[in-house]
Amino acid sequence: MRPLIATIYLDRLRHNYLLARRLHGGRALAALKADAYGHGAVVCAKALESVADGFAVACLEEALELREAGIRLPILLLEGVFDADELAAVDAHDLWMVVQNASQLALLEASTPKRPYGVWLKLDSGMHRVGFSPEEYAGVYARLVASGKVMDIVRMTHFARADEPGKPATASQIEVFDAACRGLPGEASLANSAAILLHPTAHRDWGRPGIMVYGASPLEAGHPAAAELQAVMTLKSRIFGVRDLPAGEAIGYGGTFVTERQTRVGLVACGYADGYPRLASSGTPVAVDGRRTRVIGRVSMDMMTVDLTDLPQSGLGSEVELWGDIVNVNEVAAQAGTIGYEILCNVKRAHRQIIG
Ligand SMILES: *Cc1c(COP(=O)(O)O)cnc(C)c1O
Repeated sequence: MRPLIATIYLDRLRHNYLLARRLHGGRALAALKADAYGHGAVVCAKALESVADGFAVACLEEALELREAGIRLPILLLEGVFDADELAAVDAHDLWMVVQNASQLALLEASTPKRPYGVWLKLDSGMHRVGFSPEEYAGVYARLVASGKVMDIVRMTHFARADEPGKPATASQIEVFDAACRGLPGEASLANSAAILLHPTAHRDWGRPGIMVYGASPLEAGHPAAAELQAVMTLKSRIFGVRDLPAGEAIGYGGTFVTERQTRVGLVACGYADGYPRLASSGTPVAVDGRRTRVIGRVSMDMMTVDLTDLPQSGLGSEVELWGDIVNVNEVAAQAGTIGYEILCNVKRAHRQIIG
């Protein structure tokens, strides 16, 4: 078996979820979209089922996968429905949905559900991606109530810059939200992971933690609560080739890395086809037998090369952690000019091993 294994620690998943909910207060939907940020949606939902208040996914297909696996907790469709058939499926499978534009509202008003819908009504408080404007929000709320087809309406919005401490953008989105909702009854939900960590005034009835549930911080800077998060995924492989090169030799495609000294090169079974970012160039940290070293040369499709010169005890068969306990996924992401979210979502072809 090719030795590339993504190990998923379910006790850590539960720890992180409970930490997120405790920091937020009230209840929390764990975001399981994108196959639980690459961790496996069904496995994660089952692991959280006994402790979580509900789940959030992007779309109907993701919700149905969980329902088919026997998950009975509330599931919210974060993008809402795309057509009348999807709306019928929301009714049939007892899902909650975001209503965020006029066509979704019209579909809802024209439908004949067996039971009233659970709706999260989205306000565009400043991110300008989805949601009703502050001017139209109360009117849409009134139309939903008047339709008689809705049981509860949770007022919600989403932040564009909650991960930036000390900037006014989030406070201003909260102000817009509170002004647009003045006088409207019901529960509210504002906070993603970053707002759970940084913006207590955004903590309302429901949190919506995603990335922190998987143990990665949404913040660039350190944070005492983020330090309590535990990496749910560890991506590991092994060294399957070793060679010694004199100084002045170029390694791999493009010859982008040239040895500065006599160099012992380890070949690792992991490449960009597994989701390891090709842009994580020479210098990106990896851990071999628990000790940090670096990627050298370009990452190729199925393999990559690492520097073993200062790790004389390591060699053929040595364990390589690409990220997890020793190398934080955000370090790899930063080297590739992206964020931990994208790196985790992209893992593929690796064997998955579930612990706990
Ligand atoms: C994905 C998502 C979340 C979770 O965001 P994190 O940054 O991963 O915590 C919360 N709310 C909405 C609307 C989302 O799409």
